Amino acid sequence: SKRIKIKALLESNETNIDVTVKGWVRTFRNNQFIALNDGSTNNNVQVVVDFENTDAALLKRITTGAALSITGTVVESIGKGQKIDIKAKEIEILGDSDPEKYPLQPKKHSLEFLREIAHLRFRTNTFGAIFRVRNSLSFAIHKFFQERGFVYLHTPVITASDAEGAGETFHVTNFDLDNIPRTDTNEIDYKQDFFGKATNLTVSGQLEGELGAMALSDIYTFGPTFRAENSNTTRHLAEFWMIEPEMAFYDLDDNMDLAEGLLKYVIKYALDNNREDIEFLTQRLQEEEKQKPQNERSEMSLLEKLQFCLDNDFVRLTYTEAIDILKDSTPNKKKKFQYLVEGWGTDLQSEHERYLVEKHFKKPVILTDYPKEIKAFYMRQNDDGKTVRAMDILFPGIGEIVGGSQREERLEKLEQRMDEMGIPKDELWWYLDTRRFGACPHAGFGLGFERLVLFVTGMGNIRDVIPFPRFPKNAEF
Ligand code: ATP
Ligand code: MG
Ligand code: MG
Ligand code: MG
Repeated sequence: SKRIKIKALLESNETNIDVTVKGWVRTFRNNQFIALNDGSTNNNVQVVVDFENTDAALLKRITTGAALSITGTVVESIGKGQKIDIKAKEIEILGDSDPEKYPLQPKKHSLEFLREIAHLRFRTNTFGAIFRVRNSLSFAIHKFFQERGFVYLHTPVITASDAEGAGETFHVTNFDLDNIPRTDTNEIDYKQDFFGKATNLTVSGQLEGELGAMALSDIYTFGPTFRAENSNTTRHLAEFWMIEPEMAFYDLDDNMDLAEGLLKYVIKYALDNNREDIEFLTQRLQEEEKQKPQNERSEMSLLEKLQFCLDNDFVRLTYTEAIDILKDSTPNKKKKFQYLVEGWGTDLQSEHERYLVEKHFKKPVILTDYPKEIKAFYMRQNDDGKTVRAMDILFPGIGEIVGGSQREERLEKLEQRMDEMGIPKDELWWYLDTRRFGACPHAGFGLGFERLVLFVTGMGNIRDVIPFPRFPKNAEF
């Protein structure tokens, strides 16, 4: 008989056929009932073993974590909770698992513990659901852009530019670290390095993406991004995935429309295609919420939050308007936001972002027109001389999920800003060429993929939504 995935088997209601399933044992009760899972769904198939006619030595090897191949007949279930069982005819042990040593016991483990065994956490229901949702979201992202005629452009992982000028880069070298070549003045001699200059892992594909957009009109990148920042937060990783579309002939309004459309499209796709997993995660979150004091519990369930996001327009307002709101608000116990002592011109902290989204508007928010001092050099300058055409999208429970802008296409303005910020023009000669030859209005944004997965799965820590999280002092798995 043919091997069938457990999800497909449970969805078809056919009985009295012979099938083969392969998977890992979740539990084995009473020497009779195997709960078998193959990761296609969180639902296990129940395999009924005829223990009286099965070799005792083989029964002993059916342990939690063992890999099995089962051939048997699909029958109507004798138990509650599932429609079908498999009556086993042949049981083959593909891989034993010593129950004394197997770290995943059939009980609830904490997320902290599971992070320490990240190589095995795929085998739990929570992580099965998360990574299937993550998979769907990444497929939906490609689907969205491909349906709109965008070109998927692969920008380099190794670059010589640090797009944001933030200096949070991982250096790339093939120097023998015990014997680094030096110049006469004892500087590292990058001329002798592999590329003949200092290089680093990409912090953003934007600048290269702009080159593509200046010919192909609409492009997007979707790849890994590296930042050696102190990522000891629940929202930062040292290695994360970013989606960066870049569009010629777009202004900031077009850019916001596209970003809002993209977010709604992929959330809806996940709701339509991963209902079961999202319902599981909703349930999981509700149990977690029950541990909290009443007044800290969230008003909406995960499912409601996602649906709410689809049903409502994102609120759009300027940074300056946001500051005015924050200035007059008393977030807790009549205490005003401390930071507004500094006032206009400073970057919002996540407590301000979350106040606007979660308390004031209770909706996703797009903030625009930030002070130029707190944004990158390439953003289009407004006529007020103080702000740039930037946008950040803020989500409940997440804070910033998207950062983007209309780009400065006027060579003179761009060069002037680079001078002011001390960004070397000669190193970015190729970028400036797009302003010399056929410059046009254009815009783009960066969507942090793990922040999106956080939102859709309702998880609280970004380290739990990427298969192999990279953060300070952690590169084990
Ligand atoms: P933040 O203010 O949260 O540090 P940022 O403004 O530094 O983010 P951008 O340079 O605007 O980030 O990058 C675009 C998007 O990439 C962000 O909106 C966010 O969704 C995501 N992102 C940025 N840094 C990280 C990180 N270290 N780990 C995961 N996602 C990130
Ligand atoms: Mg940052
Ligand atoms: Mg930011
Ligand atoms: Mg940003």
